[in-house]
Amino acid sequence: MSYSINGVKYSEFSAGNQRIVDKLLDREVYCCMTAEMEYMLSKVCDYRNEDDWKSGNSFVENPFTEDDIWDTYRRQCSKCESNIGFTKMRLSELKDEDFPFTEENTYECPICGREYTELSEARECCPPNTTVYKCQECGAIFSEDDYLFLTPTPITIYEWWAVSKWFGEKLKELGCVVIDSYGKAYWGRESTGQALSLDGCIIKVAYDMKILEGMENEWK
Ligand SMILES: [Zn+2]
Ligand SMILES: [Zn+2]
Repeated sequence: MSYSINGVKYSEFSAGNQRIVDKLLDREVYCCMTAEMEYMLSKVCDYRNEDDWKSGNSFVENPFTEDDIWDTYRRQCSKCESNIGFTKMRLSELKDEDFPFTEENTYECPICGREYTELSEARECCPPNTTVYKCQECGAIFSEDDYLFLTPTPITIYEWWAVSKWFGEKLKELGCVVIDSYGKAYWGRESTGQALSLDGCIIKVAYDMKILEGMENEWK
């Protein structure tokens, strides 16, 4: 990965940037919670005993709820079957190549499905501020209605990390798995085996904060 500023090329993995990302990790990431989180999440729907189960009494006390479990699911693209995620956009933000092109050589409006011979007609079909979802894997575009019909599938999480509430928000904005509980945030990392400072999600937060080398808020 790399980026350019004023014609100078930088690598996210340079020694300087790794130092900056390490500083960010020191400040915002507290500790690994994988074993604890897996245990607690596995117990969310457990009753204390058979009597409670029969009477439908409340579950065993747990910092997490069934709703939190849903945060570990993501909709699956019906075109490529990936569940890495979708980017929420406005219709007007789509690039020309994002518009579905049919076998009949027509351009399709991703909102209503009407077909047109000219791309410009497809662009002007539905209101420009209508919400669309773009698959991050294959680029397929879904209207909000179609998106809500996609099947939620469990996300493979390898590690859980306790992070600051603020950092949790940032990760959530990027589409990462984050569960909030009692003012703390837990990030479900979808990869493992490499240092956190090399993790794409973490680097993306640093990038968005513009604190990397050469950027306007660079951390010295
Ligand atoms: Zn339309
Ligand atoms: Zn897809």
